[in-house]
Amino acid sequence: STDLNALADEYLKIAYHGLKAKDKSFNCELVTDFDSTLKPMEVAPQEIGRVLLNLYNNAFYAVHERAHQRSDANYQPKVEVRTQRKESGVEIRVKDNGTGISESVKAKIFQPFFTTKPTGEGTGLGLSLSYDIITKGHGGTLTVESTGGSGTEFVIILPTT
Ligand code: ADP
Ligand code: MG
Repeated sequence: STDLNALADEYLKIAYHGLKAKDKSFNCELVTDFDSTLKPMEVAPQEIGRVLLNLYNNAFYAVHERAHQRSDANYQPKVEVRTQRKESGVEIRVKDNGTGISESVKAKIFQPFFTTKPTGEGTGLGLSLSYDIITKGHGGTLTVESTGGSGTEFVIILPTT
């Protein structure tokens, strides 16, 4: 069984390390809020890890983009991760204050090969794969909430059975 808090924390560090490897001078605030009452879960840790890594990489990409698009000196990149025990299962939230997703783009993000990133920077497979892992693979849900310019939040719900 898997400690989701430890998994979420470990992959967050891996993803942030990956960002720093590309841009040493870039700093992003990381906020974590892990529910200490979570019980170990029967999930495929490599698969959930892949989902988290993809959500984190997308989040870091979005804050990095925003930091370079706007010459807004007050912009403070931030990525937040929360776990919470709910009646129906465990909720994992990954939130960023990056570029956000427009309504027209939002309609396509779970489609395979859909990407808005330049060639070589994105395959467009991350979210479609993540969606399958969470829904088909674990009977859960993966949804997105994004408000235009103010950021994006992905919500995973994994059922506890
Ligand atoms: P890729 O990262 O290779 O582009 P994904 O399937 O992971 O493919 O994401 C598809 C698209 O969804 C991205 O190209 C981007 O347009 C959008 N997207 C995903 N996550 C975010 C995010 N956190 N902020 C802004 N846009 C996002
Ligand atoms: Mg991606």
